[in-house]
Amino acid sequence: MTYVFPPLPVPTLAVAGSSDLFPVHRVYCVGRNYADHAREMGGDPDKEPPFFFQKNPDQLVPSGTSIPYPPMTQDLHHEIELVVALKSGGENIPVERALDCVFGYGVGIDLTRRDLQMALKKLGRSWETAKAFENSGPCSALVPAATIGHPAEGRIWLNINGTPRQDGDLDQLIWTVPEVIASLSTLFRLAPGDVIFTGTPAGVGPVAKGDVLEGGVAGVGEIRITVD
Ligand code: MN
Repeated sequence: MTYVFPPLPVPTLAVAGSSDLFPVHRVYCVGRNYADHAREMGGDPDKEPPFFFQKNPDQLVPSGTSIPYPPMTQDLHHEIELVVALKSGGENIPVERALDCVFGYGVGIDLTRRDLQMALKKLGRSWETAKAFENSGPCSALVPAATIGHPAEGRIWLNINGTPRQDGDLDQLIWTVPEVIASLSTLFRLAPGDVIFTGTPAGVGPVAKGDVLEGGVAGVGEIRITVD
């Protein structure tokens, strides 16, 4: 038996300080996971359980990439996020054991067609076209938890052309990394290679053609993307 055409390559993320590659299975994202960002988007951080959406694995792009301004939007937004990469998974994972599933961490940008997202929200429709488009998930090389541990605090920031746009701290996460993994595992069977964008602090805003986006998470790494 053969494939009817050659399968596309497995999407991967780099591993910092290594030539090894992390093979990506699925990409999950958490919505509104910092109180100040939930407020700026018109939500109530005290009453909302975590909610999730997805990007496609082949939409991840490495740091250092120049990406084209995406079609069908006039309002591309940046969202700097801590990314969690899983080495194991399962269903109904207890919070106390969730960190055992973590391979490592990276720094991602959840690029968003905000104008489409706002229109989809009003219509009660799903967010795929606003969130899961080509090059929508820039992500740094992953740093193994075996090297850095499990960051629960530390600055998370993004500048555009050197001007600060987002500046928060991981200790502002409404749902912590173990809680996010445990919650996701009640909805999906998590697997090795799954990647989770954990949400963004306040300060999201528009990206223009020619902008250089630089961001980072203290103790994890940095990311740099140009939008052409
Ligand atoms: Mn996001």
